[in-house]
Formats: sequence, C-alpha cells, structure tokens
Amino acid sequence: MAEAALQLEEYFVTEDCIACDACCNDFPDIFKMNADHTRAIATNTSPVGKFNPWDIINDCPVDAIKLVNMPMPPKPEGEKVAEAPKADIDNSDWMRRWEAVRDQLEPQWERMKRYGMASAVDEEKDRYVVRFDMPQTVPNHRLKFQWGLPDLMPDYKTSVQIKGNNVQIRAKLEDEKVRKLCGWVNSFPDGFLKEMNFPVAIKSHRESYDPETRVLEVTLEKATPQ
Ligand code: SF4
Repeated sequence: MAEAALQLEEYFVTEDCIACDACCNDFPDIFKMNADHTRAIATNTSPVGKFNPWDIINDCPVDAIKLVNMPMPPKPEGEKVAEAPKADIDNSDWMRRWEAVRDQLEPQWERMKRYGMASAVDEEKDRYVVRFDMPQTVPNHRLKFQWGLPDLMPDYKTSVQIKGNNVQIRAKLEDEKVRKLCGWVNSFPDGFLKEMNFPVAIKSHRESYDPETRVLEVTLEKATPQ
C-alpha cells in the first residue's frame, strides 16, 4: 500500500523583516538569518502538524512571515479557551471596554519593546551601557478584557550572561496570568534574548531598573579599558 505523502508547510519572509532574530531563534529548523543579517530566510519546509502556523506567524513583530502553499488554519482566538485565568477585577463590562479599543493600532515601538529591540548601546572609556525601553502595556486583545488582565505590563525578570566579549541579556515575563496571553496575541512572546558581541572582553556587569520610566540599564565593564 502506498504511503500518504507527507504534507509540508512552506513559509516566506517578506521585505518587511527587521532582522530581529525571533523566528530564527524560536524556529531554527525553518528560518535562518541571511549573511548580511538584514533579513530572515525560510530555508526549510515544516511538516504539517509539527507547529501551529499561527505560532510561527505571530512570532514576527512586523507580520513579515507568510504561509504560502496552503491556507492558514482557523485563528486560535476562535478555539475554546479552557484555561482562562480568574479575573482579579470586576470585568463584567469587558465587551464594552474591548469594543472601545479594538480598532486602535498599537505603536510599533511598543511591539519592539517586547522583542528587546527598543534598545541602544552607549560606549564609554571603560564600559558599555545598554538601555532597554521595557514593555509598558499589555497588548489589547479580546481575551485581555475577557480575562480581566491589567493595562500595565508586569515587570520582566532579567538576567545577563557573559562569555568573553559575548553578552546575552534575557528578559522573561513571569506573571502567569498575562503570560497566558502570549501565543494568542500577535507579536507577544513571553520574553526576549538580546545577544551582542563587543570588540573587547567584558569582565562584569550590573543591572538597574527604574519602574517609573521602565528603563532597564545594563552596564558592562570592559576587561581592558581603552
Ligand atoms: S521574526 Fe519577523 S522580523 Fe524577526 S527575523 Fe523573523 S521575519 Fe524578520
């Protein structure tokens, strides 16, 4: 008896890609960054059923990933939501509050914060200072209102790993209720990894976070000041 042909999903990355690395980190079997680090490329197909295509599409902050050889499955939003967290507030009017904002476009900068891309690096004689604008608001979505989630994004837990001149800065959203929204909402990963290679080795770091401005500052001391 002939075996059924394996169905493969084929993805394409459009020129809207901003080279944030998210798809390459999260789905390395499918996506690779090009040599100039300017655009991700879908280098492999993916067997149907291995991933939910919505998880792949929603991984991209600028909607640059398209499934090109078959229709998308129904949106997760249409599926049953069995694990809704218990609301802390009276959200009986959630539908009215959702309707009031559902057509508002979210600023691109706020999306970029969730990928660690709202950041800048300053160099001083003996250190580098990396500053991140951390996420400010929980993105609007029907489930945010239905579940009674807050507008203000909970703080992320951060960590820094140094190996010579390579530095990895991670941020993880730990609030369990808000984390439930990740995967349902477009461009809402539950954290980010920012990896940087500096011209000189780094010997130590310190972190400071201002909850008022929501700026995370990571100071990286050079092993050999220049
Ligand atoms: S997630 Fe989107 S923007 Fe980021 S590298 Fe992939 S295609 Fe480009």
